[in-house]
Amino acid sequence: MALIDLSNYKPTFINNYRTQLLLTKYTNQNEGKIANDFWSTWKSQVENITPQDIDWIMANATLPPTMMNSWLTSFTDFVFGKVTDGWSGVAEVGVEQMNENLDRVLGIDLSTSAKAKAAEYWSSPFVIDFPELAASMENWIDLRRSYLTEFLTAEQATSVTQLIQRGVVQEGINGTDLGKQLKDVVGLTPREETALSNYRVKLLNAGVAKDRVDSLASTYSNKLKRRRGNRIGRTELSHAYNAANHTTMEQAIVVGDIQQPVVKKFYAAQDERTCQMCNDLHGKVIGMADKWRSATEFNIDQEAQYPPVHVHCRCVVIYTLLGRKV
Ligand SMILES: [Zn+2]
Repeated sequence: MALIDLSNYKPTFINNYRTQLLLTKYTNQNEGKIANDFWSTWKSQVENITPQDIDWIMANATLPPTMMNSWLTSFTDFVFGKVTDGWSGVAEVGVEQMNENLDRVLGIDLSTSAKAKAAEYWSSPFVIDFPELAASMENWIDLRRSYLTEFLTAEQATSVTQLIQRGVVQEGINGTDLGKQLKDVVGLTPREETALSNYRVKLLNAGVAKDRVDSLASTYSNKLKRRRGNRIGRTELSHAYNAANHTTMEQAIVVGDIQQPVVKKFYAAQDERTCQMCNDLHGKVIGMADKWRSATEFNIDQEAQYPPVHVHCRCVVIYTLLGRKV
């Protein structure tokens, strides 16, 4: 990415640090709803495991296709329910605050007439000033939710397959033990499944009794699941919010409300979780279409036009107009 030195220009900042504060406030209030629903989803997936499923795994040493189908259904409910509610709610906040900032900076009221026009024919899960913008954000949500649903299902299949490979194929555990361990593994990422398995081995090697190992492993697994729920809730909200801000700016450029070049200044969340990566990016400026490196749970080691650039990231972009220095 080519960095831009703002001291060569006369910059006008469209939004400011309040953009970040809004995200912190929204995630603090809403990420828990997504996390709790994720938890309930895993719980019902565990309750739906039948003795026939266990027998099938013991006999075939692979994941039953029926199990994977039922996960797909329950993850779809989760993503189309609580996650979509979260995306829509935070996108509305993003679009509104960016429109207010644009109105203020450009000195015109972009929203009034378009809002009235939109209200006539647009019915949206979130209220939005511009129909084109609403369509882009709905499109974003559509794409994101198929991606997320498939990702969650595939990831869980990988985690459970790891367990089957290690437990059933390599260690030859019985059906009862498989049933117990399966309950702990549903809800974990493949990496977390490996961590849980290492933890079990460590305890067993230290001479801890098997029943005790099972109980400690469940406690550890619950801790990992709680963390993962919050991580996904926060990161997804951050993603939708930043997408909404970005889309609002793109729209303002496309319709010609903005004539000057627009650049993006990275603004790191100044919270307890600010990491080295985001601190390093803080204040850096790149072109509107340029990308930052990103490594989120669903977007590993890729590039992104806007934050989050890692899981838990609540950073934002300050959109900036470039004027000539006089
Ligand atoms: Zn960040």
